[in-house]
Amino acid sequence: MSIVIVTGAGSGIGRAVAQNLAAQGYQVVINDFNGDAAKAVAAETGGLAVQGDVSNEADVTRMVAECTSAYGAPTHLVNNAGHVHQARFTDLTAADFDKMIAVHLRGTFLCTHAVLPAMIAAGKGCVVNMASQLGQIGGIELVHYSAAKAGIIGMTKALAREVSTQGVRVNAVAPGPINTPLVRALSDDWRAAKAAELPLGRFGEPEDVAETVAFLCSDAAKIYVGQTLSPNSGDVML
Ligand code: NAD
Repeated sequence: MSIVIVTGAGSGIGRAVAQNLAAQGYQVVINDFNGDAAKAVAAETGGLAVQGDVSNEADVTRMVAECTSAYGAPTHLVNNAGHVHQARFTDLTAADFDKMIAVHLRGTFLCTHAVLPAMIAAGKGCVVNMASQLGQIGGIELVHYSAAKAGIIGMTKALAREVSTQGVRVNAVAPGPINTPLVRALSDDWRAAKAAELPLGRFGEPEDVAETVAFLCSDAAKIYVGQTLSPNSGDVML
């Protein structure tokens, strides 16, 4: 049986990932900082809602314990929780920087650290980390976000090298602009200009990214190790 924890699954991409994997028969644990949102998606997917902050070690320990007691040890982990904040570098505070690194990088570290021993013991497991194309190319007024996402790509590669021979595959996804509340919070002008410069001419939808995550979670991706896949409307071509 496949058992997946999806972090930040109360909205946007994480919600679409949870819906996709639940439809394939995975047991899904819906984590979100926003407990009501987690409950709503758990009701849609038949999953288990676990409110918690991925950057808080006690919350992460409890989340994995609740998953294990309800379904068994997670076979899959999707580190998706994230937030965005924009500011010129000179206006960024150390607190802004620390929060960004805590949610994205420390959160990915803590959740992965909590599930990996059981995956290694089972000789099988899969971790998918949500990066961003901004971790590959950088974004103006997004130095802290870009640094956190680049860190996630580096963590993915290093951990993939370390654990792939023990049966655990670790990969990342680096989406371009995706139509979620996170992006809808940006100005209409920004979104119109951005869509116009995309080779595809439009943003992706959360379900498009969920397809990429679902592929990486599947046995069809058995030789994908330490890779970063790019559902990005052609915005970045590496
Ligand atoms: P979203 O705002 O719709 O969803 C993010 C969810 O994460 C929210 O429900 C939020 O409550 C939750 N969350 C935030 N901090 C948390 C924490 N500390 N612990 C637990 N949950 C927390 O955003 P989205 O667009 O679906 O983004 C999902 C992921 O995809 C993020 O990591 C984001 O950086 C990444 N991403 C998004 C885009 C895009 O264009 N939307 C592009 C590239 C990467």
